[in-house]
Amino acid sequence: MTKNISLLGSTGSIGCNVLDVVRQYPGRFRVVGMAAGSNIRLLREQIEAFHPMLVSVADDTLAGELIQSLPPGWSERVLVGRAGNEEVAALPEADLVVSAIVGAAGLTPTMAGIEAGKDIALANKETLVMAGELVMNAVARRQVQILPIDSEHNAIAQSLSAGRHQDIHRLILTASGGPFRDKPSRELWEVTPEQALNHPNWSMGRKISIDSATLMNKGLEVIEAHWLFGVPVEQIEVLIHPQSIVHSMVEYIDGSVVSQMGIPDMRIPIVYALAYPERLRLDLPRLNLTKTGPLTFLPPDYSRFPALELAYKACKRGGTRPAALNAANEVAVEAFLDGKIRFPEIALVVAETVSRVEHKPVERIATVLAIDLAARMMAESIVESLMIKAEQKRNKVTP
Ligand code: NAD
Ligand code: MG
Repeated sequence: MTKNISLLGSTGSIGCNVLDVVRQYPGRFRVVGMAAGSNIRLLREQIEAFHPMLVSVADDTLAGELIQSLPPGWSERVLVGRAGNEEVAALPEADLVVSAIVGAAGLTPTMAGIEAGKDIALANKETLVMAGELVMNAVARRQVQILPIDSEHNAIAQSLSAGRHQDIHRLILTASGGPFRDKPSRELWEVTPEQALNHPNWSMGRKISIDSATLMNKGLEVIEAHWLFGVPVEQIEVLIHPQSIVHSMVEYIDGSVVSQMGIPDMRIPIVYALAYPERLRLDLPRLNLTKTGPLTFLPPDYSRFPALELAYKACKRGGTRPAALNAANEVAVEAFLDGKIRFPEIALVVAETVSRVEHKPVERIATVLAIDLAARMMAESIVESLMIKAEQKRNKVTP
C-alpha cells in the first residue's frame, strides 16, 4: 500500500535524503505535501519531480516567485508561512508527516500534524526540546507514533525492542565530537564558521553543523531522548565516539548493552522511519568492521564544550528553560555564522539568556512561543553587547 507523506523542510539536507529514498520506492511512498523556506529553485524542481498536491513557502514574495514559475492553476496550491506549514502537515491525504524544518519553526507544524492524527517521522529535535511534555501528551491523546530520524534516537528506538521499559538502566548517546574534538580551549576562540561547518562524518545543514561543533546538538539530543523515551535525564549519558558507527546504545539492568550500528548515512534511519515496521533494502556501502579501524569511546570534555552541560541543566530544571536555551542558541549560532561573535561566545550567550529570562511551567504552546520570542530578544541584546565590547577592545589595541 502507498504511504502518503507530507514533507516539511523538503529542500534541506534531511528533506533531500527523504526524497532520495522516495525516488527509490515510488510505489511505496507518495509525497502529497511539501513545505520549504526560501530555496525556490530547488522546490520547483522537487514539485516537477514529485507532484505534491500542496506546498508552502516562507513568505508572499517567494510564493509569488514560485507561482510564476509553475503551470497555471497552482496559485491556490501554494501556501505561506507558519499557517501554510501547518496546513501542509494536516493535509487530509497524508498518512505520515516528515518533520525536517530546522529550528523553532518546526514546532507548530509538527503539533498540527499530531493533532490531525498523523504519525510523525521526526528530524526536528527542537520540537521536543521546546515543548516535549506537550508534544508527548498530544501524541498519547491522538494515539499517533513518533518515529525518530535523528540517528541516535533511531538507534535507541531499535535497541529498545530488546527489553522492557522498566528494565532500562541507562541510555548512552554517542557523539562524534565534531570538528574541534581535539582542539585546545584557547584555539577555539580563533575558529572560523567555515572550519566549524566542516563536520568530519556527516554532511548536514548549517545550524546542526555548528551545534555539532559546540556539542549543543548532543545537549538538544539528551532533552529529545528524555521526552521521546520517557527516561530521566540522570539516566542519559553521552560518550564521544569519533567514528560514528555505533549510533547509540541502551543498557539494561542485567548489564546487557544493546546498540544499533551502521555507516553514517542518514538514509538508513530515514528509511526505517518511513517504512516502519517493515525494512526496505538500500543500496548503500555495507558496514565492514574490518575496514573501519578501531572503534573508540571517551567521555565528553564539559569544560571545552559547556553547551552540553547547559542543556543537561535546562532539562533538569525544566519549565521554559529548554525552550529559552534553544531560542538563544539559534540566535547565537546565526551571530557566529555572521561573524558577529566568536565560537566560545555561543555558549556564553545561551547561558546568559537562560539565566536572565523569566521562567514558568509549560502549560500550553503559547507559553513556549512567548519564551521563544523573549529569549531571542534577550540573546540579540547580549550579542550586541559582546560586539560593542569587542569593538572597544580593538580600538584600545590599535590607536
Ligand atoms: P537544513 O538547513 O539543511 O534544512 C532546513 C529545511 O527547513 C530547508 O528545507 C528549509 O527551507 C526549511 N525551512 C527553514 N525555515 C523554514 C520555515 N520557516 N518554514 C518552512 N521551511 C523552513 O537543515 P537539516 O540539516 O536538514 O536539518 C533539519 C532538521 O533535522 C533540524 O532540526 C536538524 O536538527 C535535524 N537533523 C538533521 C540531521 C542531518 O543529518 N542533517 C540529522 C539529525 C537531525
Ligand atoms: Mg543526531
